[in-house]
Amino acid sequence: MIAMTDVQKHFGELHVLKDVNLEVPAGQVVIVIGPSGSGKSTLCRTINRLEPIDSGSIRIDGTELPAEGKGLAQLRADVGMVFQSFNLFAHKTILENVTLGPIKVRKMNKGEAEKLGMSLLERVGIASQRDKLPAQLSGGQQQRVAIARALAMKPKVMLFDEPTSALDPEMVNEVLDVMTSLAREGMTMVVVTHEMGFARKAGDRVLFMADGQIVEDAPPEEFFTHASSPRAQDFLSKIL
Ligand code: ADP
Ligand code: MG
Repeated sequence: MIAMTDVQKHFGELHVLKDVNLEVPAGQVVIVIGPSGSGKSTLCRTINRLEPIDSGSIRIDGTELPAEGKGLAQLRADVGMVFQSFNLFAHKTILENVTLGPIKVRKMNKGEAEKLGMSLLERVGIASQRDKLPAQLSGGQQQRVAIARALAMKPKVMLFDEPTSALDPEMVNEVLDVMTSLAREGMTMVVVTHEMGFARKAGDRVLFMADGQIVEDAPPEEFFTHASSPRAQDFLSKIL
């Protein structure tokens, strides 16, 4: 579903992704962990071309990402992304936040989009808030809306970049629960997170990134018990 081949990315002199190769089969849940600045966010952002790459290729479901134009909007719609900061449209209602993409990009009519939107808001447990504005919701609720909004595009892949890092502790689980059920339903997911309980429960695979490289790639249990590189061991000793 995702195939990154020999991907290189610089920010000026800084080499942020160093020859990254990654294949994610359909339905797999990949957890990405690693120190701050190791390139985790950049990895996610290149997968839907929020960041252009210098060289290499990225395919989603067999199709190479175009650099720009109409094809890019379509492919981007196939790749949902949820950020640490919820990034909801502040002046639109919860329901409008979810229906805007399907109407604009997927060319759905309003009634159809609202039906889909409500079913997704129900799925993330927030349907009763449909007419509120984002600021009237808690952080955990806003993040669940952001997930519903991404799902409304019927993506093939969902990317999560530290989706619970900005939340108060008591709200983390309500978001992780939604993500866990999504994983169980077979969504292909790339999740940057330091929530190790979630990684163990929902992850099929853990990637450890350091200095722009994927240093380890192993099933969660193996990674947490037998990380082989000193950098991963050092990192784990600090967070576990
Ligand atoms: P992580 O998500 O693992 O913390 P990032 O992918 O955000 O790491 O960043 C990797 C490196 O690239 C960091 O050194 C960061 O400062 C740098 N970086 C990220 N985005 C930009 C940007 N837009 N311009 C310049 N440097 C950037
Ligand atoms: Mg980051």
